[in-house]
Amino acid sequence: MCQHPSTKIMTELIQKQWADHSIHAAIVNEKSEIIAIGKTTVSQTNDPTAHAEINAIRSACELLKTDTLPPDYWLYSTFEPCPLCSSAVLWSGIDGVVYANDPRFRGSLPDWSFIKCRTMLEQGVDIHQVKLIENFMLDEIKDYFTRHEK
Ligand SMILES: [Zn+2]
Repeated sequence: MCQHPSTKIMTELIQKQWADHSIHAAIVNEKSEIIAIGKTTVSQTNDPTAHAEINAIRSACELLKTDTLPPDYWLYSTFEPCPLCSSAVLWSGIDGVVYANDPRFRGSLPDWSFIKCRTMLEQGVDIHQVKLIENFMLDEIKDYFTRHEK
């Protein structure tokens, strides 16, 4: 069983967000190695579903040539996964989610997590059971959106 959450993994994603100005997510394998990183590319790709988490899941599944990720794979994200991404977690067979920031600290942006990740995962338990760790390293990233508004 993996020992999550990992400060090392989340630190890497948070640093990428501060440097790259995009939410970042990673898929982590059973050895706690990052196998795929995604960032939000909605406007660059004209794809409203190209969220960081979706991009990371797509890359990981493409890499492993599978539509269901193996046991003990986790998703790390710098922001609470929205309903779209939370659904993708259920469909991809990811066993656990760790996220940092949440919509309390989104500044003037719309509330992407209009259905909480926790609610989505609880409602989807018949599809796949997913563990959830919320607000991990929140203090490292919660100022991001409010700082960029100025
Ligand atoms: Zn999303």
